[in-house]
Amino acid sequence: MTSEPSYGASLTIDLGAIAANWQRLAAQAPGIGCAAVVKADAYGCGLARVAPVLWEAGCRTFFVAHLSEAIEARTLMPEAVLYVLNGLLPGTGPALIAKGLRPVLGARDELAEWAALCAELGTPRPAALHVDTGMNRLGLSVADALALAGDPILAQAGIGLLMTHLVSAELPGDGVNARQGAAFAALRAALPDIPASFANSSGVFLGPHAHHDLLRPGYALFGGNPVPGSPNPMRPVVRLEAIIAQVRTVAAGETCGYNGRWMAAQPRRLATLSMGYADGYPRSASGRGAALVDGVRCPIVGLISMDLIILDVTDAPGAMRGAKAVLIGDALDIDSVGWAAGTIGYEILTGLGSRYVRHYVTGNAV
Ligand SMILES: *Cc1c(COP(=O)(O)O)cnc(C)c1O
Repeated sequence: MTSEPSYGASLTIDLGAIAANWQRLAAQAPGIGCAAVVKADAYGCGLARVAPVLWEAGCRTFFVAHLSEAIEARTLMPEAVLYVLNGLLPGTGPALIAKGLRPVLGARDELAEWAALCAELGTPRPAALHVDTGMNRLGLSVADALALAGDPILAQAGIGLLMTHLVSAELPGDGVNARQGAAFAALRAALPDIPASFANSSGVFLGPHAHHDLLRPGYALFGGNPVPGSPNPMRPVVRLEAIIAQVRTVAAGETCGYNGRWMAAQPRRLATLSMGYADGYPRSASGRGAALVDGVRCPIVGLISMDLIILDVTDAPGAMRGAKAVLIGDALDIDSVGWAAGTIGYEILTGLGSRYVRHYVTGNAV
């Protein structure tokens, strides 16, 4: 990667890896549809670049959280099936209809409002029905959904997809998976004609019983490990590198950074990176995270500041002014970066800052 001194850090996004990951997920459930969840600007990777790549890979159904995101996706993919996960917010019906977007209806009143809109138009417009099997976040209760069996409102509202969302899919041993599976099976038995979607990224790996008709992965597309504790079957997508602005030596007893939170026990070499929490690298990784310089793991020392991060590069002779440090990439996958910051890789991805120079590469052919 060429050095670009006007930026402190560069973010490289491998679009080829995203396409390969989608195909890998689709191959996990042969004969089953595989959608892509591209909310939050495609998990921070940039919807405008990611959407055409997924479309090209063969993906035809996409989920976003907000109407605004769906409107952007529509301009990128005029033919795609686009679902809005957060449902029918008051007043958004006409815009959804105008753009051919499908709300994921999550309550009786949303269902009634959408059915009324369809009646006004004289024709059902496709939508999904979200049933809450344990999350208590969005969706009709299982009892309310079961009571809809035989109700003409389902056809009037164009319900063409039944879905629920897993509480703990990344923990296969958690009994809640089986309870949600059983509730969803009962629902499908009561509403047998409606195709169904159950599995997020980790759900895809719970086994064929979790696949139903349409997979709904997000995180794994962007390189997150859907099977924590086991080797990551996905290809890494994101690489974050920052430039070393200065290197210095400190004597034993000296501190670095705000409030002197770290003190050198012996003489140490420190490198200051031109990147900080304003770039989306969490301050909570202070004293816990690390970066790689020539493959050598260099701990982050002191408090991360807005525009700067200090590394202990004593063991990395290649650390010098202008050299690069890898914050995400190689041995530092997004899951481990999230862990070091006391959060999850999802939050690292979606927090990726806007101050980086972004490079999109296609990597190796799929
Ligand atoms: C975000 C989201 C997904 C995707 O989940 P991942 O864990 O990122 O694969 C699927 N379904 C719903 C309802 C979501 O909100």
